[in-house]
Amino acid sequence: MTMPGAVGKFLSRLLLSFTLLLVVYPGKGYALEIALSFDDAPKADGAIFTGTERTQRLIDTLREKGVSEVAFFCNTIHFSDEGQARLKRYAAAGHIIANHTATHLNLLDPSIDEKQYIKDIEQADEQLSQLPNFRRWFRYPYLRQSTQIGAPNNAVIELFLQNRQYKHGYVTIETYDWHLDKLIRQDIQQGRVMDYAVLKQIYIDILWDSIVFYDALAKKILGHSPRHVILLHENDINALFIGDLIDHIEKNGGVIIPISHAYADDIAAPKWDGIPLSQRRIRALAKLKQYRGSTVSLYEEESAIEQRYHAGLADQSV
Ligand SMILES: [Zn+2]
Repeated sequence: MTMPGAVGKFLSRLLLSFTLLLVVYPGKGYALEIALSFDDAPKADGAIFTGTERTQRLIDTLREKGVSEVAFFCNTIHFSDEGQARLKRYAAAGHIIANHTATHLNLLDPSIDEKQYIKDIEQADEQLSQLPNFRRWFRYPYLRQSTQIGAPNNAVIELFLQNRQYKHGYVTIETYDWHLDKLIRQDIQQGRVMDYAVLKQIYIDILWDSIVFYDALAKKILGHSPRHVILLHENDINALFIGDLIDHIEKNGGVIIPISHAYADDIAAPKWDGIPLSQRRIRALAKLKQYRGSTVSLYEEESAIEQRYHAGLADQSV
C-alpha cells in the first residue's frame, strides 16, 4: 500500500517541479532560447500598414503565439498623441518600453559630442518614464559605440547610464530586417503586386540564417547557447511575418522567452557592458577572446539581402 502512495507522491512532486520550472523559466530545456526586441517605435505609417494598424497586428500576433514580453526600444522625436497611444498599448499588452534616445543620434558622427548625446537620452527618459512598463534599458542607436576601451565619449555616457541605473539593452543576434522592409516598401510604392508567400519565405530565410550564425558563434565562444536577444524593428515586414518566424523557431526546437529572462543571463552582467562593441554582445565577447573566425553573418550586407530578395521574386515570376 505504501508503494503507490510513494510513487504518487514522487510523481506529483515531479509534476510540481516541472510546473515550477515552466513558471520560473519557460525556456529551460530548449536548445535555442530567443527574446524579441523591436527598435525605433513608434515608427511612421508604412506602405502596408498605418502605424496604428501595425501596432494592433504586432500585439495580436504576439498574444496568439503566447509571447508574453518583448521590448520596444523607443525614440520620442515624433511623440504624437497617436505615437504615445501605441506605446501605451504595447505596455498594456505586457511588453516593455525602453530608451533608444529621443532623436536616434549616431555616436560615431563626429559632429555630435557626449553632452548632446546624454541630453538626448535624458529627453527620451523624461517622456518614456511617464509610460507604464518603462524600464531603464538603453540601446545605442545603430548599436554604435566607440570601438576603443575607455574612449572618452563612451566612458562619459557609460557613467551617466550607470548613475541613472540603466542596464544595457544589447542584442546577441543582429539582423538587417530594416533593409528588407525598405526594399518591399519601395516596390509597393512603385505599384508592384507582391506575392506574400514568397516574401514570407525570403524573410524567414534571411532571419533564420542570422539566428543560426549567431547561435553557432555563441556556442564557440561560450561553450553553450545563451539566452538570445534578436534585433528587429517596429516595421511592416515584422508585423506581417513575426508569427511565421516564431513558428519557424519553434519547429526547429527553439522557444521564445520573455526578454527580462534574456537580460538575466550571465552575459548580461554589467562587467561586459564596458567592453568594446558591447551592444553586439556575442561579437564583443568573440573579439575579447580573440576569436579569429568571422563575426558577421551573411545577411548583414545590404547587397546580400538585395540578391536574396530579387532571386526570390524572380522565381515567383517564372
Ligand atoms: Zn534604431
